[in-house]
Amino acid sequence: MHDVQEVGVLIIGAGLTGIGAATDLNNAGYGDWLMIDSASGPGGMAMTEHLDWEHPNRSGWVRVCGRWCPTPIQKNLGSLVEGSEIARELPLTNSFEADFATSLGEYYVKSFGPTLNKLFFAPFNENLRSGSTDRNVPVADASSVASIKRSPEDTSSFYYPRLGTGALWCDVAEKLPCDKQMYDTTVTKIDLEQQTVQLSTGKIVAFKRCISTMPLSSLIRLTTPTQTYLLRCADKLLSAETALVGFGFQGQLPEILSRKTWIFSADRNVPFHRASIPSSFSPDLAGPGRWSILFETSISQHRQYSLEDLPDAHLAELRQWGIEAEPISIWKRHLKFGYPLPFLGRDSVLEELLTEVESFNILPRGRFGGWRYESSNQDYAFQQGIEAGQFIRCGARESTFWPSRLSGPQYNPL
Ligand SMILES: Cc1cc2nc3c(=O)[nH]c(=O)nc-3n(C[C@H](O)[C@H](O)[C@H](O)COP(=O)(O)OP(=O)(O)OC[C@H]3O[C@@H](n4cnc5c(N)ncnc54)[C@H](O)[C@@H]3O)c2cc1C
Repeated sequence: MHDVQEVGVLIIGAGLTGIGAATDLNNAGYGDWLMIDSASGPGGMAMTEHLDWEHPNRSGWVRVCGRWCPTPIQKNLGSLVEGSEIARELPLTNSFEADFATSLGEYYVKSFGPTLNKLFFAPFNENLRSGSTDRNVPVADASSVASIKRSPEDTSSFYYPRLGTGALWCDVAEKLPCDKQMYDTTVTKIDLEQQTVQLSTGKIVAFKRCISTMPLSSLIRLTTPTQTYLLRCADKLLSAETALVGFGFQGQLPEILSRKTWIFSADRNVPFHRASIPSSFSPDLAGPGRWSILFETSISQHRQYSLEDLPDAHLAELRQWGIEAEPISIWKRHLKFGYPLPFLGRDSVLEELLTEVESFNILPRGRFGGWRYESSNQDYAFQQGIEAGQFIRCGARESTFWPSRLSGPQYNPL
C-alpha cells in the first residue's frame, strides 16, 4: 500500500518558475501546496549559494572575423571593415517588412540587411541554436534598428548577486516554508486520470492542480495512460543541448578582457556562441588574485562536440586573443536541456500538447516546461510562476507565458 499525500497545488520543479508559483501562493496565504525537485536545493539551472550584490558595468562584445566589436553590432559598425556597406543597407530595411518574415533568417535580412546577416546574425544563430536560422520563426520587434549611427560602448551597470544568480533564488526560496519544499525527490510517473504523481521515494501525491516546470517532453513520457499521439507531438519539440566549460586562472584579468562582460561569437570555426567573464560580474566568483571565463556551446545533431575536447578548443581560442596562461581549474557540465528552440509550426505543436495536458489540471510552464524560449529567461520564468499561481487561485489571465495565446485552461479558481 502506497503512502498518499493530498495537496491542493503540486509544483514540480523548484527552479525560478516553481519558486515564483510558490511565492505567489504563499504571499496570498494559500497554504495547501507542495514543491518537489530532484535536485538537492532550489534554483534550477541557476543554482548557487549565498546573496550579496555587486554592481558591474555592462559590456558585451562580438567576436567577428577576427575583430572585436561592441554590442549591439548594428550600432557599432565603425569597428568593421564592412561597416559602410552595412550602413548603406540598414536604412533600406524596416520593422514593418520584418513582421512578415517567414523564417528567422529572412527576418534578419529584412531587419539588418544581407551583409550584417551574413557576417553576424546567421553564423551567431547557428552557433547558438545549433542549426540554421531558416526553420525558425521571428518574434522580435525590429524597431530598435531605427538608429544606425555609431554609438558609444554600452557601459551601463547592472546588479549582480555577489555569489552568482542562484544565490538570489535561494534567498527567495528561503522565505518560503521549508516543510512545503521537498528536494532530492524525483517525479517518476504521472497518472493523468487519477491526478496523482509517483515519487522516487515510493510516495504518491494526489493533486487538485499541478504546475509542472519539468521539460514538457519528459512530462509527456511520464504520463499514464500512455497516449501515442502526444508522444509523437512531444518528439517534434526541438532543443539544443549545452556544454558549459569554465576556466579559473591565477593572476590579473588580461587587458584584452578587461572591459568585457560577454563575448558573442559569430565565427563558424569556434564551437562556443557565448563566453562570459564571471569574475568581472563579481570578484568573489573566482577568489582573490584570480579571474574566470565561462564558455557556452550548443550541441545538436547538426553540431557535435564532446565535453572532453571542448576545453582544448576554448584554450586555443584564448591563445588567439593573446592569452597564453594555463588554467588552474577547469569546470565542465553537460545540459541535456540547454535551449528550447523555436521552429516553424512550434506554436501549433505546443497548443496541442498544452490543451491536452491542461485538461487534466496540469499547467506546464517555465523554460522547458512551456518550451517558449522567448518568454523564459530568469525574470520571465519567475513571473510565469507568479502568474500560474494567480491563475490557479483566482483565474487571473497569464500575460507572460504566451501573451498572444487565444485559448487556455478553463479552471474554476481554487
Ligand atoms: C546555458 C544557459 C545560459 C543561460 N543564460 C541566461 C541568462 O544569461 N539570463 C537569463 O535570464 N537566463 C539565462 N538562462 C535561463 C535560466 O536559467 C532559466 O530561465 C531558468 O532557469 C528557468 O527556470 P525554470 O524554473 O523554468 O526551469 P529550471 O531552472 O530548469 O527548473 C526546472 C526544475 O525542475 C526540476 N525537475 C525536472 N524534472 C523533474 C522531475 N521529474 N522531478 C522533480 N523535479 C524535476 C529540475 O531539477 C529543475 O530544478 C540560461 C540557461 C542556460 C541553460
